[in-house]
This record gives sequence, C-alpha cells and structure tokens, in this order.
Amino acid sequence: MQEIGHWINGKIVKGTSGRFADVMNPATGEVQAKVALATLGELDHAIQEAAKAQVGWAATNPQRRARVMMAFGALINQNMDKLAEMVAREHGKTIPDARGDVQRGLEVIEVCMGAPAMLKGEMMDSAGPGIDLYAMRQPLGVVAGITPFNFPAMIPLWKIGPALSSGNAMILKPSERVPSTSLFLAELLQQAGLPDGVLQVVNGDKEVVDGILDHPVIQGVGFVGSTPIAQYIYGRAASNGKRAQCFGGAKNHMVIMPDADLDKAADALVGAGYGAAGERCMAISVAVPVGEKTADALIERLIPRIEKLKVGPYTAGNDVDFGPVITKASKDRILGLINSGVEQGAKLVVDGRGFTLQGYENGFFVGPSLFDHVTPDMEIYKQEIFGPVLSTVRARSYDEALKLVMDNEYGNGTAIFTADGDTARDFASRVNVGMVGINFPIPVPLSYFSFGGWKKSAFGDLNQYGPDAFRFYTKTKTVTARWFSGIKEGASLNFKALD
Ligand code: NAD
Repeated sequence: MQEIGHWINGKIVKGTSGRFADVMNPATGEVQAKVALATLGELDHAIQEAAKAQVGWAATNPQRRARVMMAFGALINQNMDKLAEMVAREHGKTIPDARGDVQRGLEVIEVCMGAPAMLKGEMMDSAGPGIDLYAMRQPLGVVAGITPFNFPAMIPLWKIGPALSSGNAMILKPSERVPSTSLFLAELLQQAGLPDGVLQVVNGDKEVVDGILDHPVIQGVGFVGSTPIAQYIYGRAASNGKRAQCFGGAKNHMVIMPDADLDKAADALVGAGYGAAGERCMAISVAVPVGEKTADALIERLIPRIEKLKVGPYTAGNDVDFGPVITKASKDRILGLINSGVEQGAKLVVDGRGFTLQGYENGFFVGPSLFDHVTPDMEIYKQEIFGPVLSTVRARSYDEALKLVMDNEYGNGTAIFTADGDTARDFASRVNVGMVGINFPIPVPLSYFSFGGWKKSAFGDLNQYGPDAFRFYTKTKTVTARWFSGIKEGASLNFKALD
C-alpha cells in the first residue's frame, strides 16, 4: 500500500506518528493509499525551518519571486494531464472537470507573476516641512493554508500563490482525503526555483490544525472548508492573535424570472447543480422559479436533461458527466437527506437514490436528484447537501424570491436569470451575497478580482486571491520621515499637525 508523507525542506519525508488516514478511490470504494498524520513535533520542525527560509525569501526582490511564479505556471501547464489525473484519482471528478480545477488555480498563479505591482506601497512627499510619509507592505512571516477536499489543485494554488509571492513562507495542510496534488505542486515549485523550506506541506488532521492555530510563529491562517470548522478556526486563530480568513459552506440560489430564457436557465442549472457531483462551494443547490407557470415550464425542461446525465468513474472517458462523491459517509448522508425531503413532503421528481453501476457496486455514486415544492423549513433546504441534489423552491414574486435568498444563513454565491436589466440590476445591488451571477450560474470571479462570500460563508474581512489576497498576506508599515535642511523650529512638546 502506498504511504504518503510530507514535503519538508524540499523533499518528501515519511511520517513518524504511526497514525494514518485512508485515501480512498471513491469510484471503487477501495483504499488506494495511506496518508501520514503529522505529530505536533513534526509540525513544529516544519514551522521552525520555514521561519529560517522565510528570511532569505522575504529579502529576495519581488521581481525574482515573481519569476519563480512564472516558471511554476509554465510547469503547471506542462504537467496539466498528470495533475488532472492526480486530482481525478483521489477526488473522483471527471478529467475535463479536473483540468478546470487546475486551470482556475493556475490563473491565480498568473496574477502572482505580476505581484510586484500589487506590493507597491504608498507615498506622500512634502506632507509637512521636510516631511515625507510612506507606507510599505511587508510579508507576515510564516503563514498557514488549510484546504478542503473538493478542489485538490485550485484551492492550494489560491493559497500558495499570493502568500509566497508576497514574501511569506507557508505551511500547507491539504485535505487528508486528497493529499497527493499538493505534494506534487510543492515539487514543481522547487523545480521553478523556490528555495527549500519556503513551502512545507504537512499532512494531518485536527491535531495538526490545532497545532497550527496555537503555534506562536504562525502569523496568518487562510482556511477553506465547511462552515462549522471555518468558524472554529477563525475564533481560535483570532484569539491567538493571528490574522485569519476562513471561508465556509454555501447554499447558492438561482432565481429564474418569468422573462428568462428557460432553456438556457435549465442548461445552466444542470451544469451548476450536478457538475462535480454537486461538490462545489459555488454549486447551485436551490432553483427559485418566480410564478407557477415559470416553475412548471422549468421543471419540464429540467427532467429530460437530468435523466440524460451519465454518472461514472473518471476512467470511463469524456462522456461521463460526473463521478462519485468523496466518501461512503458523504454518500450515506446525502441519501439520508433525500429520504428526509420525501418524508417532509417535498416532491422527488428525479430520484437518484437507487443508482448503481456494474463493476463499481462499492463506489460512492449517487444519481442526480431533483426536488420540487421544497419549503424553507425542510432539512434539504436548511443543510448544505454537497451532493447531486437540486431543490426547487417556488416563489410567487420577485420580492419573495429575493427575500428567500437574503434570509438564508449562507451568502457565498447566487444568480438571477432574466431578460430585464432593471430586475438584474436591482438584484445585484440589494442581495446580501458575496458573488452574484446575472444569466451566469457559477459567478466565480476571475483571478484579478477577489473571491469571497458573506454571512456564514466567510469569517474575516478580506477575500481570497486578487488584490485582497495581497492585503491579507502583507502588513502595512507607515514611515514618517523628516529631513532638517531649511527647518528652524526648536523642540515642541505639543502633539500637532504637520505644518
Ligand atoms: P472540512 O471542513 O471537513 O475540512 C476542511 C479542512 O479542515 C481539511 O483540511 C480538514 O483536515 C480540516 N478539518 C476538518 N475537521 C476539522 C476539525 N474538527 N478541526 C480542525 N480541522 C479540521 O471541509 P471539506 O469537507 O474538506 O470541504 C467541503 C466544504 O468546504 C463544503 O462545506 C464547501 O462548501 C466548503 N468550501 C468552501 C469554499 C469557499 O471558498 N467558501 C470553497 C471550497 C469548499
């Protein structure tokens, strides 16, 4: 059985704890590898070494650091097929989808190639007699990235790129379900010229995460995962005086107005609801058609599209639409939630519960499911299902639809499909959600903007990647400088304006 270790000081090292987590093949239900779970001692060693390496890395000029990102980007491109296969093998998503996972991470690295422009400070000359003020951005030091299973390449890249190009060292703690991609990315970074120790990949579970949150050398924590863990990590990191940004779960609604192109809306819902088996934090999990006529016409269009979807292992080729979910526990939870929806009175229009695949009977497959007549008090509405299940909540009016979205505790993404500019504009302006799509179902901002939700989808006040990430990974230092030529004034004990 393959044993997966850690990446410390530029090489793979075996774990010493004797504790391992199973890395599953979600399509067959078999254990395909074991990943070592680090001890606090191993973590401390990785952090101390990172702290040493960070000093030289921070002193490396920003353009040279950016060149490492350029070489890294080229290596990611050269290794695209290998990376996509690695992602698919542990996560279960299809190869085209896995390539998208790598690509959307690569785009953040591309922005980091221009990091020097983001790291420039501010300057005001002659702010008073002989006085200049300038503010510079300096790296935090050693920071940590803690990432989820659902984007094994993209989210580690969202963390690594801005943190390293800003001059920090990073301890990356990937999800123990998908550890291989992060280790390979670390190897590629070394080939790109990153000094050893600047990126350490430490595999582990709660023990290591808590160790990171309590370690005095760690200055900042970037987390992505489920809401309860995001909230916990934010609280513990902040109470230990660390900067933290923690992104959580979601329940993303798509409002479909009576004037929308319903064929386009149905296509968008199928892609956004069932792509990656619904295991995306920006998946649409609630369709909100406005008016009974719109709802009936939408459901009529959704059913044949959903029934046509092909579910299977990534190895079956490009005509598979989505693969298994990540674990047996996740599959059982999703099936339990579908049962609860039926028991609580929702209409199960497409039933994916009985789905089986010959030769893959032990795989974690769930067929696509569609609910109609869901109400906000039902468990299928209240919980993030994170599976291939789309719920339809019928709204009587635009205002009712908007209120539904706004009353939801999550605020990651939302979308509206309409032909009316005024309605779209009103929705975008008033809705209390961080990322909004207009006739666009998954509005993940491009890498030169920033990504982040509102309400219980994010804790902390800066977003991921783009300009916000460079603010998160740097501290501002402001210098007030005076030179005395031409100044006659003697000592003053007053706290006064610079004039
Ligand atoms: P998770 O919260 O279970 O795990 C995320 C990370 O936290 C992993 O590295 C894991 O090892 C660690 N962890 C798990 N339990 C912990 C505990 N008790 N204490 C300390 N650390 C712990 O999330 P997941 O199942 O890997 O990922 C799916 C979730 O992530 C979904 O809720 C999804 O919406 C969310 N997500 C959010 C975003 C976003 O940007 N908002 C992006 C992707 C995924």
